[in-house]
Amino acid sequence: MSPDLERLIQLQQLASTIEEARQRIDSHPHQLADADARLAEATEHVEAAKGRLAASQGVRRELEKQAALYQGRVSKFKGQLSAVKTNREYQAMQHETATAEQEFSAAEEKVLEQMLDADLIAADIAKAEAALATRKKEVTAEKASLEEELATLQATMAEATVARETLLKTMDSGLVALFEQVAKVRKGIAVCATHDGLCSVCHVRLRPQVFQQVRQNDSIVQCDVCNRILYFVPPPAPPKAEPAAAPAQ
Ligand SMILES: [Zn+2]
Repeated sequence: MSPDLERLIQLQQLASTIEEARQRIDSHPHQLADADARLAEATEHVEAAKGRLAASQGVRRELEKQAALYQGRVSKFKGQLSAVKTNREYQAMQHETATAEQEFSAAEEKVLEQMLDADLIAADIAKAEAALATRKKEVTAEKASLEEELATLQATMAEATVARETLLKTMDSGLVALFEQVAKVRKGIAVCATHDGLCSVCHVRLRPQVFQQVRQNDSIVQCDVCNRILYFVPPPAPPKAEPAAAPAQ
C-alpha cells in the first residue's frame, strides 16, 4: 500500500476517534440532567405522598374536634336531664341527646376512616421512599460511571489529537487539504474502504476501471459519487462448506 494512502487511513481513524469521543463527551450534560430529572421525579412522589398524609391528618384533627364537641353536648344534655320538670321537656331533651349521640358516632366513624386512609398513605410513603433510595443508588452509580467515562474519553481524545498532529507533520499538505475538504462535506468521513466494488459509505458501485485502480492500493482514487478517498480491503474468506453428512440409518 502506498504510504500516502496508509497515512490517509490513519488520519481518518484518528479523526473518527476524536469525533466519537467529542460526541460522547457532548452527550454527558444531557445524561446527567436526565439522571437528575429521574431523581427529582422519585423525590416528588415521596413529597406528594407526604402531602396527602398531612392533609388526611388535618381532616382527622378537624373531625376529632367535632367529635369532642358532640361528646360535650351529649354529656351536657345528660346532665340536664335530671333537672327537667315536665315530661315534654324530658322527651325534648332525650331527643337532643340522641341527635348529639348520632352526630358523635358519625364523627367517630369518619375519624376511623381517616385513620385507615392514613395507614394506606403511610404504606405509599414507604414504597415511594424505597423507590427513591433505589433511584438514588442508581443515579449515584450512573454519575460515577459517567465521570469515569469522561476521564477515559478525554484521555483518548488528547492522545488521538497528539497522534494526529504528529501524523499531519509527515503528510503532504495537498492530501491533507483534500482530506479536510471531503471530510467537511461528508460528515467527517473522507476515507473509506471497499472490498466488493461498492463504496462502503455511499454504497454506489464503482466503475470497473475505478475498482481495478482502487484494488492496487497505490494511488489516491475517489468515489465518483461521494468523493471519498477509497482503499481496498480483501473480502473476508467465505466459510468452508460443511461436507454433507450421510443420512442416519
Ligand atoms: Zn461513495
